Amino acid sequence: VASRLHKSGLLRTQGLIGGKWVDAYDRKTIKVYNPATGAVIADVPCMGGKETNDAISSAYEAFYSWSKLTAAERSRYLRKWYDLLIAHREELGQLITLEQGKPLKEALGEVSYGAGFIEFSAEEAKRVYGDIIPSPLADRRLFVLKQPVGVVGAITPWNFPLAMITRKVGPALACGCTVVIKPSEITPLTALAAAELSLQAGIPPGVVNVVMGNASDIGDSLLAKIIRCSCFIQLIQVRKITFTGSTAVGKKLMAGAAGTVKKVSLELGGNAPCIVFDDADLDVAVKGALGAKFRNSGQTCVCANRVIVQEGIYEKFANAFSKAVQNLQVGDGFTEGVAQGPLINEAAVQKVESFLQDAISKGAKVLLGGKRHSLGMTFYEPTVVSDVNGEMLLSREEVFGPVAPLLRFKTEDEAIRLANDTNAGLAAYVFTNNIQRSWRVSEALEYGIVGINEGVISTEVAPFGGVKQSGLGREGSKYGLDEYLEACFHMMIAD
Ligand code: ADP
Repeated sequence: VASRLHKSGLLRTQGLIGGKWVDAYDRKTIKVYNPATGAVIADVPCMGGKETNDAISSAYEAFYSWSKLTAAERSRYLRKWYDLLIAHREELGQLITLEQGKPLKEALGEVSYGAGFIEFSAEEAKRVYGDIIPSPLADRRLFVLKQPVGVVGAITPWNFPLAMITRKVGPALACGCTVVIKPSEITPLTALAAAELSLQAGIPPGVVNVVMGNASDIGDSLLAKIIRCSCFIQLIQVRKITFTGSTAVGKKLMAGAAGTVKKVSLELGGNAPCIVFDDADLDVAVKGALGAKFRNSGQTCVCANRVIVQEGIYEKFANAFSKAVQNLQVGDGFTEGVAQGPLINEAAVQKVESFLQDAISKGAKVLLGGKRHSLGMTFYEPTVVSDVNGEMLLSREEVFGPVAPLLRFKTEDEAIRLANDTNAGLAAYVFTNNIQRSWRVSEALEYGIVGINEGVISTEVAPFGGVKQSGLGREGSKYGLDEYLEACFHMMIAD
């Protein structure tokens, strides 16, 4: 696969600064591994503050002309980029499976989904409307102009190597911003391939930059106050940080952004409840919970983290769900029929193991799985655990692995209380055939995204984002563009 990718020109192994592919200035590299086999796929540069400062300067220079293009011109560039992403869907899908491990079918799905953000942004670029405000004074005119925020620093995780980037870069570019992307060091190759395609689409040098390596050095540079001063004191700085990743790093970035009052968007951890009521359709609930829990082997921030089941349907659901989980084939993502790839690394497996041990020591019962898979590496058996309660790590924190904890409840009020008993508030799922209940419960849930009788809820046309400590801001949809815009108010005298 790697050699095929090499031939297609999409296996890029350098950073991108001002339209040029570059190594780390000190030539240091880091290895990228295939999590299914442990094989090294490539070496990429281990960059730091210096390279990041140059990338910010390039983005700053490019901002001047990119932001001056008409919306229609930016739209055409984005549309071209989208067309190229789709034309290379196979190669990009293979690259995602290779460095991230998810089954090829899911990886191809990610390419369509990820490219969708570029397509949507190309369309929406033309609809960044301002406002005319009825004037309170006869001789004044008031209007609002939407202006691009400036240079954007985009920091992304490894679980969606393409989509996490496109959902930030698409709207940023549509609004006239330029970007410095820092993909996860675990999965940088998809980001670099996407950046290569942005160049092929004709997007000017410096509009899209990619650096990777020492995360905290790069982060510090993105947050820095001023990176270059001349005698005219030119303020070159990132004006916006957009981040997807852990809550701990998100908080650090938010605190760091305060130094220069940068705009911040954060997509942080979730602790998604999946509530199954007695009156749910069993098949729909099983299928929905399966999709919500086991996508990407449980490694998404909207993955069901707690399956909260009403007592009347609990046994039936537990049996049917366990049967469905047992049918999930585990293996290398390139193998036909595989539904569960490896976990991203050894630390991820150890986290799953420690959460499970904690639950078992507090009285939970393993219905299915519960150990490493015989395939070795970081493969883990799809697992169902019953009798989980609110004291256990499994229900308090994100397990980020293929473990479905079942919790039991009696009343609707109890279900809502359990569901909201967390600092997170990203996605929630409700399964019921009672229409009044579906309204009542979904409104009472303190979550940014609610799926009703539906387990797969992400789409580029709807706002994605959390409440409480799951984050700030929204990605996708018309709302996603607001994150990269300033509403600038102008008043003029008309007489
Ligand atoms: P995950 O557990 O999903 O890897 P992280 O928050 O650790 O979550 O990583 C998400 C992204 O944040 C990655 O690109 C990672 O390299 C980056 N990152 C980690 N620490 C920092 C930091 N101190 N400053 C900036 N970025 C960071």
